[in-house]
Amino acid sequence: STSESQQVTIVVTGASGLVGSAIKQVIATEPLDSPYGRRRGERWVFLRSTDGDLRDPAQTDAMYAKYKPVAVIHLAALVGGLFNNMRHNLTFLRENLLINDNILWSAYKHNTKKVISCLSTCVFPDKVEYPLTEAKIHLGPPHSSNFGYSHAKRMVDVQNRAYKEEFGCNFSSAIPTNVFGPYDNFDLEDSHVIPGLMHKCYLAKKNGTPFIVSGTGKPLRQFIYSLDLAKLFIWMLREYDSVEPLILSVGEDEEISIKEVADAIVREMGFTGEYRFDTTKSDGQFRKPASNAQIMSLMGGFKFTPFDVALHETVKWFEENYDGART
Ligand code: NDP
Repeated sequence: STSESQQVTIVVTGASGLVGSAIKQVIATEPLDSPYGRRRGERWVFLRSTDGDLRDPAQTDAMYAKYKPVAVIHLAALVGGLFNNMRHNLTFLRENLLINDNILWSAYKHNTKKVISCLSTCVFPDKVEYPLTEAKIHLGPPHSSNFGYSHAKRMVDVQNRAYKEEFGCNFSSAIPTNVFGPYDNFDLEDSHVIPGLMHKCYLAKKNGTPFIVSGTGKPLRQFIYSLDLAKLFIWMLREYDSVEPLILSVGEDEEISIKEVADAIVREMGFTGEYRFDTTKSDGQFRKPASNAQIMSLMGGFKFTPFDVALHETVKWFEENYDGART
């Protein structure tokens, strides 16, 4: 067995965000040497933008020279809500291309054994047959609204295959569906649906104003709790050695409607005021189910946190950390 003095380093980039904070928490709290815990002889390093700007090749290379990571979970990205994305497609394309190219090129040069990069379901074609599977990424252009971000993320899969073919690298990627949990971005204008609705409901309760949800509430989505997603990433790091991307999600049969989300938030926050749907606002796509069959068959199953439990924990975190949260 490896002694603590012969340490290997695992770096997590973008670790101050929603997903990275969850990995940090799992590594800190799961027992040593347990399936999702830290292993003896491992040092985990959690980085954010102030530790080095990954758009810059020199700063990225300095990070690899400093930590000499044996493996990297690469989460860092320029991430924004839909409106921000729509207005800045070039910025999202360029900055994410730079970050990802720097991370992979330096990983190759420093002989890092494994990189797991984080994609998103927006990499999939806009017009596609559902459910989404790992084989469908490149079958047509992504949705035009955030094509900059989507193409940059898609390119990681192309890069991984090219690094494998030319240099034999073990670089892969994960594709999470909608993530939620503590440390999310709760901005009212530019956040994902769960944190956005939580913040709206919180203010409605505080100010005695109506809680108004955009759209009919009917669309269905798959939501994965950040702490569950963290465990799937750790499993990939330990057990998965293929270039093929893996969809990290709850099952197709676990879709939840926006109304169910809003109902659960109202219940958890104890909101008793006026609550309605603004059906003049557009709904977006009715559903876009993704299959988790690939990872489930490889892992032999996984016990996801029930949605209500995860939502309860997230509301509790948000209420307790309102002043420090990204709002
Ligand atoms: P967050 O926005 O919460 O965090 C982004 C992270 O990236 C932060 O740690 C940020 O650092 C870091 N970062 C941004 N720019 C740079 C840079 N130039 N150099 C170094 N670090 C940088 O993101 P999430 O946790 O939500 O997302 C993590 C990953 O998961 C991303 O790749 C995202 O595309 C993907 N994803 C997210 C989904 C979601 O529902 N949230 C769904 C599917 C995929 P700092 O805090 O210091 O600015």
